[in-house]
Order: sequence, then C-alpha cells, then structure tokens
Amino acid sequence: MAMELTENALKVLEKRYFRKDENGVLIEDWDKMLTRVASNIASGDEEKTRRFYQLMDAGYFLPNSPTLMNAGGDLQQLSACFVLPIEDSMESIFETVKNAALIHKSGGGTGFSFSHLREANARVRSTNGVSSGPLSFLKVFNAATDAVKQGGTRRGANMAILNVDHPQILDFITCKENPAELTNFNISVGITEDFMQAVTNDDEYNLISPHTGAIYKKLKARDVFALIVKMAHKNGEPGIVFLDRLNNANPTPTLGKIESTNPCGEQPLLPYEACNLGSINLALLIKDGDVDWDKLKEVVRESIDFLDAVIDVSKFPLHQIETISQANRKIGLGVMGWADLLFQLKIPYASEEAVALAAKLMEFIDFYAKERSSELAQEKGAFPNFQESIYATGCLKREKINQPWDSLKEKIKKEGIRNATLTTIAPTGTISMIADTSSGIEPQFSLAYVKNVMDGEKLIYVNKYLQKALEEKGIYNNKLLDEILTRGSLAGIEGIPDDLKKVFQTAHDISPEWHIRMQAAFQKYTDNAVSKTINFPNSATVEDIQSAYELAYHLGCKGVTVYRDGSRESQVLYLGTQT
Ligand code: ADP
Repeated sequence: MAMELTENALKVLEKRYFRKDENGVLIEDWDKMLTRVASNIASGDEEKTRRFYQLMDAGYFLPNSPTLMNAGGDLQQLSACFVLPIEDSMESIFETVKNAALIHKSGGGTGFSFSHLREANARVRSTNGVSSGPLSFLKVFNAATDAVKQGGTRRGANMAILNVDHPQILDFITCKENPAELTNFNISVGITEDFMQAVTNDDEYNLISPHTGAIYKKLKARDVFALIVKMAHKNGEPGIVFLDRLNNANPTPTLGKIESTNPCGEQPLLPYEACNLGSINLALLIKDGDVDWDKLKEVVRESIDFLDAVIDVSKFPLHQIETISQANRKIGLGVMGWADLLFQLKIPYASEEAVALAAKLMEFIDFYAKERSSELAQEKGAFPNFQESIYATGCLKREKINQPWDSLKEKIKKEGIRNATLTTIAPTGTISMIADTSSGIEPQFSLAYVKNVMDGEKLIYVNKYLQKALEEKGIYNNKLLDEILTRGSLAGIEGIPDDLKKVFQTAHDISPEWHIRMQAAFQKYTDNAVSKTINFPNSATVEDIQSAYELAYHLGCKGVTVYRDGSRESQVLYLGTQT
C-alpha cells in the first residue's frame, strides 16, 4: 500500500526532489520519482525495480537525499557522506578545497581532519615564511562552501575535526564562539583515550607539532576539557568525537586510520571514502502491540539489497573516491520514526523498557543486515578488501542479546560479506519529513505546532499518535489543542491522564541522561556511529554538560553533540508557539 504524503512532504518534494524541465515546470510526481530511482538502482531489472519501488512507496525505507535526487540523472552521485584528506602542504589543502566543492555541488557532505596542518607561525621552509595554521585554512573552506550552491538544492555541510593534541587546540575550541563564524561547519574535538586518562588522573598531556613530531607544549587535560564543556554549554560547539573508538571499530585497519566523520558525525570514514545511507521507518512496523519482527526482517533484507546496489550504479566525483568506495563497499542502514514507534507501543522514551527495546531492535537490524550482506557476498563476491578486514580475522565484536552471532561470524569468516559496514543512524533531517515521522532516534521535538505557509495561511500540525490516543480517551478538543500548541508538550497541562503524559514525552521532557542512554543502546549494534543531539534545558549548568560528556564516554558512545535550549540566536526549531 502506498504511503500517504502530507502537504508538507509534497512541498519539500516539489521544491527539491521532483524533476523540473528547463523552464522550471515540474515533470515528476511521487510515482515518477520512485520509478526513476527504483529502476536506476535496480539497473533496469524489472523484478528488482518493482521490489525497490514498493519498499519506498510503502514508506518502509528511504535512501539518503542524494540518491532520491540524483539517481537516474546526469550526476548520478548518490552518497551523502564523504571524508577528504588534508595533508600539510598548499597543494593538498587547495586540492581538497576543490574536491570538496565538487562534492558539495552533487549534494554530498564532507568531513576533514585539520590535524596534519602545522600550527600558525611554524616555519615554512620553501618560502622562508611562516604558516597561517589550520584555523585560517578552515575559513577558506568555509568561504568556498558559501560560494558553491549545491546543484540548486543543498548548501554545503562540513565537519572539521582537530585532535586534542594539536598545538592550536585552544583556538579551535573557541573558533565558533561567535555564531556568525564558520556557519558551514560543524566542529568536533578529536579526543583520545590517553587524553581521557589524563583528565581522570588530573595530569598534563603533550601538544605535538604535526610537521616535526616535537612536543610543542604541555597543558592540563582538565583545563582543556573544561574549555570544551564551557563552549558547548555556551552554544553547542564544539562536539567531541572519541577517535580511538572510531579506530577500534575500523573494519579495515590495515588501510589506514579513521581521522574524521561526515558532517553530522554518524559516519566515520577513511580518507577519500564515501558512504550512502538509508533509513527504515519504524513507525510503520508495528503489529498487535509489538514490533512487527517478521516484516522488519523482510524490510532490512530489501534495504540492504537496495543500498548495496547503489554502489554499483554510483558515479563518484573523484577517481580516488571511486577506488576505495568500491573496494570497501560501505553502506549505512539506520532507522527513523523511533519516537513515533514508542508512542504507539505506549513506552516512554525515558525508560528502561525503551532502552532495552532499542538494543534488541538494533541488534536485530544489524544481525539481519549482516546475514543478508553475507548472502550477497556468496552471490556476487565479498568486498574486495575483505581479506584484510576484521571479518576475515574474526575481530567483529558483538555481544549477544537474542541473535546467534557466533554462527553468523563463522559464516562471514568462511563465506565473506559484501559490505565493510552495514549500519549507521543518520539524522534523517529531510527524509523523515517526507515520511512524516520523527527523525532518526530522536524524541519528538514538539507534539503540536503551527506552521506559517504561503499566503499567510497557517497549518496546524499535531502528532497523529497523540491525537489518536487523546481521541480514544474522548478528551481531544480545540481548547486542549490550543494548550498543547502553546506549550509544545503535555507537561503541566491539566486533564491529561498521567499514563499519556508519561508516554508522550518531548525532547525537553527527557533528561540528558536518558538521551545518552538511548544513543548508547543504539550504538552498541551500529557499525558506524549514531547521530543524536543531547538536549538540555536553558537552565543547565556547565557541570551538567560535563557529566553528560562523562556518561557518554563511559557508556561507549563514539561522540557527543549537546544543545542547550535557546543557546543559539537563530534556533531553527521552536517549541510550540510560545517561544
Ligand atoms: P537526508 O534526510 O536529507 O537524507 P540527513 O539529515 O540524514 O539527510 O543527513 C545525512 C548526511 O547527509 C549528513 O550527515 C551529511 O553528511 C549529509 N548532508 C545533510 N545535509 C546536507 C547538506 N545541506 N549539504 C551536504 N550534505 C548534507
């Protein structure tokens, strides 16, 4: 059955996804777009085209935006995520500025580590001058991104990472203190285990000059950690990313180190690697008051077939990207609609039950993704770097809750696997809007809001599962709707039964600890990383942020992004109409 498109979804699709002719007149609708995408990804195979079409049309799965936009078109650039190397030379820096521009043009996002660049004022032998340092080059990348409008659809998104032992780490930590600066970049500090040890022991640690390897200076680890926390408290940046953890999970360690992620942090990649993502809409996979496990398994298998096929028909923007992306065949299957699933199952987001279900569900998805990828390896061959990977050496780490991991690991070791990574939890910023569900694994931000649309018309949006639950209790009326609209949440509204208040929580009703525990539960069974914002009330203290970072570290998260409500001037999402 085809999913129903909301007015909002149609607007987004018409503006950015459906094809237009040279006069800007729409020549596609939902059916034509899906036919274009499905037949392109299926390489024309009719049976496969039909399967892929149905998977998307039913709303069970959507690939990342570049696949929807570019499949079957001139660009044929289908991946959302790229990481490019920056070496300590003018040639490398400006070569990468150019390559990033080409990727942005095709709708992809780029991540970079600036850690190899020598610090400002370090000597440059060839000119007898001094270097201007990573921070000034970061501005060049930012300006270049501003100048490139991406195929008319997306403006560029970037991630910059600087390792905590770089001589200019303090400048980096404060470089987005002014929110008008570096607006095309998310920034994250690359944290090491050694640094975390030094924080625990209240030790000093060394800053190292990248081009000489010499000790530049010593800093107290706790001072640096405190500055990161202070800035994150102020306006949400920098984030942190646990570099050693990314590398412990690197499926192909002999090919090099992971130094960066894509812009939103969910996809660690080797230099020049690309990855295409796709997400399953959990809100639709419910049966008899439980997850529809049989259907979910079927959807996982189909989605893996889809994402794997994307690699075969992708045109990569650079030769180096093509080579490594085809040799590792990384894909990232994730979820959206998690909060909407919990609403339907009447499980509060902030509960042991929800965290346990998260781990069980992601274990299931990860397991059947890998099983299907192993079957594909038998049909079509393992990914070319398989022999050098953790799969061949038996180093894939998975704790069993329900699934028979030991036998699957053996099967993979013997018969191979077609993709070096299978699972990633993406933010699903636009595809969740198209699917009309909650994004990624985030709680709902607001239960009801008014949206101003063209011609001064107002659209009222109420979470459909909340509406249904209120109607079932016979208490849904305009007065109540007005109150929910004003507050965005049920907290403090009289006349709503406690059981509903417990279930219909928003991001702000949920404490940071539960946000983090949810991220950690999904991370346990995700090859790549998890996109998640840890929301804090405006009144949160610096110490609250610090405790959250420490908890995320202890629970095995790969990175942390925090946001204190109201701490950025132009906040994109607002609660209800009150703010
Ligand atoms: P979507 O819902 O559009 O498929 P997501 O919000 O899930 O995308 O983001 C997934 C990834 O896509 C991001 O981490 C980033 O790599 C890339 N991306 C998102 N928005 C942009 C953008 N405006 N420009 C470039 N890349 C983007």
